Amino acid sequence: MTNLNIKAFQIGGKWIGDDVRREVITSIDPADGSVAGIVSRALPSDVDEAVEIASQAFKNKPWRKLRPDQRATTLYTIGSRLLAERESLAKLQMNDSGKPWKECLNMVDMAAGNFRYYAAVCETWQNEVTSPRGDYFSMAMAEPFGVVAAITPWNSPLISESQKIAPALAVGNAVLLKPSEETPQLAIELGRICSESGLPEGLLTVLPGYGEDVGAALVNHPGVRMISFTGGTDTGRIISSSAGRRLIPVGMELGGKSPHIVFEDADLDKAVAGVLSGIFGSAGQSCVAGSRLFVQKSIYQKFIKELVERTAKIRVGLPSDLTTQMGPVISEAHRQKIASYVDIGRAEGGQILTGGRIPDIPALKNGWFYMPTIIDGLNNSARICQEEIFGPVLVALPFENEEDVILQGNDSVFGLAAGIWTSDYSRAWRIARELEAGSVWINTYKQSHIATPFGGFKDSGIAREKGLHGLRLYSQVKSIFWGMHSNPIQLG
Ligand code: NAD
Repeated sequence: MTNLNIKAFQIGGKWIGDDVRREVITSIDPADGSVAGIVSRALPSDVDEAVEIASQAFKNKPWRKLRPDQRATTLYTIGSRLLAERESLAKLQMNDSGKPWKECLNMVDMAAGNFRYYAAVCETWQNEVTSPRGDYFSMAMAEPFGVVAAITPWNSPLISESQKIAPALAVGNAVLLKPSEETPQLAIELGRICSESGLPEGLLTVLPGYGEDVGAALVNHPGVRMISFTGGTDTGRIISSSAGRRLIPVGMELGGKSPHIVFEDADLDKAVAGVLSGIFGSAGQSCVAGSRLFVQKSIYQKFIKELVERTAKIRVGLPSDLTTQMGPVISEAHRQKIASYVDIGRAEGGQILTGGRIPDIPALKNGWFYMPTIIDGLNNSARICQEEIFGPVLVALPFENEEDVILQGNDSVFGLAAGIWTSDYSRAWRIARELEAGSVWINTYKQSHIATPFGGFKDSGIAREKGLHGLRLYSQVKSIFWGMHSNPIQLG
């Protein structure tokens, strides 16, 4: 257990939960079931006050009127301060989410990088001067929306949160952040660090509440002018419907069921390693997890045999153990959901080639671990091939040829990511262009960085985060025409 003090959150400089008895949210460490932290719970009644303070901060405080290089200075400072607290943030992340230690350190580095990148973009971003078609000067400028609501999931909080806050602030918006109730601690720390880095009061308020009350209150509040959401597709649909009624823009980063394709001419050693890390990294709790494996028929048996052998050697263990390759899943309920999907796979006629059970390791008995699992013997229409499990479960399917794998790969409501392993470059190009996915990896998997846009096709999302697209997401365009003509405008 890290800290039994109740973490308060701030609205407009006032600490909520410090001096009043409030309900709390208890974060449980998935590795051993202990209490990882307790935070004061934000309530829907806090939303009105937070929106009012954010609106005032947006309108009256000079943030959006600062020169871009001045805003950038604060964002650079936030990045540096995150790194200065690298170890303690990584520890909090590990206890809140059960991610292995090295992954937690990496997440802090990435979050700092997100602030640095958007600081650099903020000060180098150029408005467009458009070609005049008369005696006037014309330009298109990026303007902030005002108050933006950012709602995040539990699987990579620091990354999702920094990926939204940094560009939204860079443009000049005020942000209300609602982290997941499963991992509420990091967002509170991020709020503190932003404030200590000189971000003017009211520009970032963290509301650690539940989705159905605080999340819904934010989404439906008339003062919120844009919503940036990362989470499940069903939740995304609910939020998008509300935003649609209110005619406000959304960014939606949703679920996936990504095809990972191995051709007979691939470097099989690299492909096995790519497939393993593509599904079992973060215990499969990754939106881009390559959870549907397609292997060409001619090498199917050989490839699967090697994959199963290497899967059985994956070191499942405590997140704090540096030799651990796969930690626990987020909660008991989530492990139960994963196990139910495996049961559905069995009932549909699938064969469990490895895993399909809770590990029998005494040191892990109090945590929510699940063995890395491979199932085959099903076809792509099976429920476990079509629904997102969000856990360490891989379904393996054979395919005949390019045409077949494009058809099967695209036979999904999702379109977040895909992977292709082949030594034939023109084939890789053809297939990459045909796959309905927001990111396609060729002879690699799960690479990402803040400068390259990220988002989904079909039910996997709307709009793009990261890169310059990530900045555009939080801005609306204003066109300005400036007359230079010497004579009055003629009527008619
Ligand atoms: P979730 O949809 O259950 O919750 C996400 C957030 O939405 C939480 O903060 C939750 O409190 C809030 N929420 C829930 N109901 C709400 C409502 N009615 N109104 C407003 N807010 C509400 O998702 P989760 O279980 O936290 O995360 C897992 C999902 O996130 C997976 O489907 C995964 O694929 C997806 N995900 C997508 C990406 C991406 O970039 N595409 C990244 C990470 C996770």
